[in-house]
Amino acid sequence: MSARILNGTLLAQQIRGELAAAVMDFHQRHGRPPGLGIVLAGEDPASEIYVRGKLKAAAEAGMRADLERLPASASLREVLAVVDRLNRSPLHDGILVQSPLPAGMGATAEQQVFDAIDPAKDVDGFHPVNVGRLVQNRATLAPCTPSGVIELLDRSGIEIAGARAVVIGRSEIVGKPMALLLLNRHATVTVCHSRTKELADVAATADILVAAVGRPAMVRLGFVKPGATVIDVGVNRLTDAADVARIFPPGAPQHATFARRGSVLVGDVHPEVADVAGALTPVPGGVGPLTIAMLMRNTLHAAQARMARAQGPAA
Ligand code: NDP
Repeated sequence: MSARILNGTLLAQQIRGELAAAVMDFHQRHGRPPGLGIVLAGEDPASEIYVRGKLKAAAEAGMRADLERLPASASLREVLAVVDRLNRSPLHDGILVQSPLPAGMGATAEQQVFDAIDPAKDVDGFHPVNVGRLVQNRATLAPCTPSGVIELLDRSGIEIAGARAVVIGRSEIVGKPMALLLLNRHATVTVCHSRTKELADVAATADILVAAVGRPAMVRLGFVKPGATVIDVGVNRLTDAADVARIFPPGAPQHATFARRGSVLVGDVHPEVADVAGALTPVPGGVGPLTIAMLMRNTLHAAQARMARAQGPAA
């Protein structure tokens, strides 16, 4: 058997097309586009790429997106001051602080910054108010990556209600909100992590298996029930030729990519899983593009909600 490949790039394009019409409508009604403020501190190369992707997607969707850059030497206070300015800005409906913040800002910096964002502008859905709403199944702004996974499942015709779902990973940004979103959609959910015993056996009970770990090709054949849907959230960059040779079969396109660029991306799921899974997301081109599409959707929703609040209740 060979898994159906769930093309996230195509679905994200479709969603962005749908959003563009709603963005244009918003612009006409309010005389300005929805606005997103992105805060980037430091020069992390992966963050640079992610931020560029977000700016491009916002521009393509007809939104305003402003990048606030801070040097790696910036203090936490400086980041908080930018967040405060964006909280008060009439032009910005959404605020995103790119993670990770420079290590020098301290271990709790990210949490302090996320806590400082106005929950109504928190398009990443990391503020405790938005996390609480997600727990209570009344989220208006849910984290983008897990929301993208739900969208991908829905648009691929994969039934969530009643399915047995296993999420590997319990981070605040992916694993935990993923589990909550699946639970809110009536899946029976198990969350696994680094202390889970008999991980492969637990994973193999899943109709929907989500891997959000950050370990290259960790999910092997024995983790997957034949016919299961496997969602690979992991994005890992391989720079060692031996790893590439070990993971990808001879003739796989990744060998040419590695020869050309000196590195290649791999998810948390081993390519051999395509032989048993019913459906599988590729890396790249699976969950990643959906994450950005959901960021655009959250920004539009935040903008619409803000203008509705400003106009007051309908007479
Ligand atoms: P974190 O490092 O925050 O969390 C990783 C989780 O995996 C933790 O809960 C950890 O358990 C668990 N884990 C680690 N090792 C094992 C193991 N051997 N067995 C079982 N569980 C394990 O990562 P993130 O959630 O931020 O990201 C996960 C992956 O998703 C990364 O590759 C990241 O790059 C990618 N990502 C992709 C996005 C996209 O848009 N495609 C967006 C965001 C992330 P414990 O809690 O016990 O430590």
